[in-house]
Amino acid sequence: MRPMEARAAREGNRRERELAPPLRASGEGVAQVSGTARLPRPSGAAAATQPDRRGGERRTALREGERHTALRAARPEKAKRSQDWYLPRHSRALALLLGLAYVPCVILAGGLPQGASLATGFASVFLLAVASLFAALERREGTGIAVRIAVVALGVALPMGCAGYTLAHWVTQGLPWQWALATLLSINAAAATVYRARVISLFTGKIASWVPFALIDPSPLMFAAIIGGALALTLIARFEWKDAEARRARSEARDRVAARAEDILRSFEETGEGWFWETDRRGALTYISPKAAHVLGKEPEQVIGRPLTEIVHPAPGASDAERTLAFHLSARSAFQDIELRAASAADEGGDGNGEDARWWALTGRPVYDSYKNFCGFRGHGSDLTEKRRSQQQVSRLAHYDSLTGLANRVQMSRALEQILAAPRERDRACALFLLDLDRFKQVNDTLGHPAGDALLKQVAQRLERVIGPAGRCGRLGGDEFQVIVPAPQTREHLAHIAREIIASLSQPYTVEGHAVVIGASVGVALAPEHGTTSEELIRNVDLALYAAKDAGRGCHRFYSDELHSAAEERAELEKDLREAIARGELELYYQPVVYAASETIVGFEALMRWNHPRRGALSPGKFVPIAEDAGLIDQLGQWALRTACDDLARWPAGIRCAVNVSPLQFANPELPNIVANALAHSGIDPARLELEITESVFMGDGAATDAMFAALKRVGVRLALDDFGTGYSSLGYLRKAPFDKIKIDQSFVRGATEKGSRNGAIIASITSLAEALGMDTTAEGVETLDELELVRMLGCSHVQGYIYHKPMDARAAGDLVEGDCTAQADGPRAARQTRTNLLRRVLVMHAGGVDDATLRNISEGGALLEGLWNVAEGASVEIEFSAGRRARGVIRWSRANRTGIEFDEPLRRRSDGSFAVLRGTPARLAG
Ligand code: C2E
Ligand code: MG
Ligand code: MG
Repeated sequence: MRPMEARAAREGNRRERELAPPLRASGEGVAQVSGTARLPRPSGAAAATQPDRRGGERRTALREGERHTALRAARPEKAKRSQDWYLPRHSRALALLLGLAYVPCVILAGGLPQGASLATGFASVFLLAVASLFAALERREGTGIAVRIAVVALGVALPMGCAGYTLAHWVTQGLPWQWALATLLSINAAAATVYRARVISLFTGKIASWVPFALIDPSPLMFAAIIGGALALTLIARFEWKDAEARRARSEARDRVAARAEDILRSFEETGEGWFWETDRRGALTYISPKAAHVLGKEPEQVIGRPLTEIVHPAPGASDAERTLAFHLSARSAFQDIELRAASAADEGGDGNGEDARWWALTGRPVYDSYKNFCGFRGHGSDLTEKRRSQQQVSRLAHYDSLTGLANRVQMSRALEQILAAPRERDRACALFLLDLDRFKQVNDTLGHPAGDALLKQVAQRLERVIGPAGRCGRLGGDEFQVIVPAPQTREHLAHIAREIIASLSQPYTVEGHAVVIGASVGVALAPEHGTTSEELIRNVDLALYAAKDAGRGCHRFYSDELHSAAEERAELEKDLREAIARGELELYYQPVVYAASETIVGFEALMRWNHPRRGALSPGKFVPIAEDAGLIDQLGQWALRTACDDLARWPAGIRCAVNVSPLQFANPELPNIVANALAHSGIDPARLELEITESVFMGDGAATDAMFAALKRVGVRLALDDFGTGYSSLGYLRKAPFDKIKIDQSFVRGATEKGSRNGAIIASITSLAEALGMDTTAEGVETLDELELVRMLGCSHVQGYIYHKPMDARAAGDLVEGDCTAQADGPRAARQTRTNLLRRVLVMHAGGVDDATLRNISEGGALLEGLWNVAEGASVEIEFSAGRRARGVIRWSRANRTGIEFDEPLRRRSDGSFAVLRGTPARLAG
């Protein structure tokens, strides 16, 4: 509101208040209280404030201190009203009237009275003129009853008596008696007005003015009248005194009640828990507690006169609150606890929902006067800010992840349920992404939890940046995130989003000064294709994520029904495995490990075998992870250790045996005892037992890992690092972990002999690293003579692979080492690439022309074509598999219509075994 308008409104309100009847019939000496009881309004000399029809406004203007003083002053010991004093403050008007009444008497009498009556005439006027001095004397503190009687005698009885005497004697000197009587009656009438309710003074004056007449004409009747008058005066005085006392007692009681109410309300206002307000009938504030005004950033005077609806806004989440308030005000109906936001000064700049926002609950009821006229509203407010803040905090904690600020699991599943419950079928479509960070645990373990937290925050930011307004991101806990993208989407688009997420999250991070690289795996499920309930979708997206992780992480997978059957199969296998363990159906096989230099068998690796009654032989690669998930691995591991040690005890002393230890077994502090027991049970030398541990153990608690290594070393067993190079990429642990051997994973051996492969270089560097650290090396999975030659040339001390022996049962292993332990390499020279057989049209560009041909089979290195006749061996060709997908190669052989082609660059085979070049429609000759 502009200042001019505000002033006009205040002026209007002031006039309104002046015209409006007091809210409650005002009690004597007690001010009406706006809203509730107000400051008492004392009268007389003890009054600290004057009676004020704009009481509310005046009192609001009082500062707290002033209010207090006023309050104290407003509690007089014996508060007197003006009528309680015998003399009015001034009697000058009576003196003037008396003087004027003498004038016609002078005219009628033909002059001034003679002698004493002239003196008493002047005395009567004079005494009335100075009666204010007696009145002041009466009002002085500590004035006793004697002085008050004297004051009545001097200020009332004497002047009125003098007036009566003058008139009575004037009659004897010629003033017509009718005129004297008329003058006396007039003076008495005037005195009745001046003394008003002061009955004693009034009667005293009357009797004093009449007594001289009786004395001039003494008759028994006159005396009887005077005595009667005196008696009546005494009775009236007594009645008057009692009435005054009763009034005073009532007034004091009211004062006390008002003061108590005021005290209670003031202390309540001071606590800040509540405040009071009052409006006039137009809805403009006539009172507001100073505390509430201060919340608005104003002084009470600045708020008084403004409409109540102007100082509040609807609280967020209670959008119709203001309307409700306006409704109650206009309907003049009581309301209770309407939640509103205080219109603070901060609102002018922002939306008012910031930190400074204050919330109130308003309660009010209409007020009517004794004539049932509506006078306005009166009520109280309470501050809800803290309550609301803690509610908001609780709700934030309940719905948002406190670390990243993303929605939490509860909120995400609520959002998902909301979409799935949409009334229109089209709106129920959405895509659900489930993300798991790869290598996050490693960051947490190596850099500490604060660094892990900082990383998660950055991940959340990147995720939100990728998704933007297209969807909603949430953190389910740990390193698991979820994204909901509403509305129907194409798979291509969703795959694009998944790739974007993975690419963005795989960019390096800087955490506490360290460069950190993590990855992400993403599972995607769609509604309604993959589920119409949130449980179904969540279970399926979980399976999709599981598949993405299984596929080597850092990729995305859509849910498919096969995943579901895979999960079911897994559950079935788990059940079967429990039964197999109980029935002792598992077996331990042994694969010889050959010392490369002498080609002698120096030991075995123990490998579990399970011949499933229905499924046949199952790879440990399939059932060991199930055993790990089902908590069966400890039991299986113990069995393997004990069996291997027992078998080893029967073999020559120079033979060692390696047993695989799962990271879960490694995390069991009992492992050294379990190993020691197995050794003790079989009675073998601990140095003959080798434990194969994978790199993943370094992702656990560093101190516990170190302690476990130390404990195992104390037992005396050898330690081998299995599948080296496939997991944890830091070499730092090699410095302190006491390994005796590094096993080079077969993925490095496989393909090492192929053209352009870098595996050989990797193997060479691993062997030199192991040599420098004084460790043996075993090349795993050597299948061909070329591979064997290569790994021996690259310095691997031991070889394990089908080129020598496949895993065999304990009896066969025992037979093998009974002899001279020599191993004979037996296998193909080179690995033949897996060929995919098919029937597909391709175009072949050669010798300047284009021919149609049929592709019969294809591998990374080459292809067999049918349909080309008489082509020259050694010639260059280009094959177009589909539009834009080509490969160059050389014709290696040609027989009849069949041609063998070797590609210049090996083709890329995807993880599902298919070739990228074969995507799309087969190529065809135009026309
Ligand atoms: P691993 O420890 O790396 O074992 C070597 C795997 O390579 C064995 O597979 C073995 O049969 C296979 N292998 C050896 N030479 C060749 C070869 O020339 N060509 C090919 N293609 N494969 C070869 P297996 O027996 O299927 O075991 C798979 C994995 O299961 C093992 O990998 C090991 O991680 C785990 N595993 C096996 N037995 C146990 C066990 O008793 N306890 C635990 N915790 N894990 C075990
Ligand atoms: Mg192994
Ligand atoms: Mg291995």
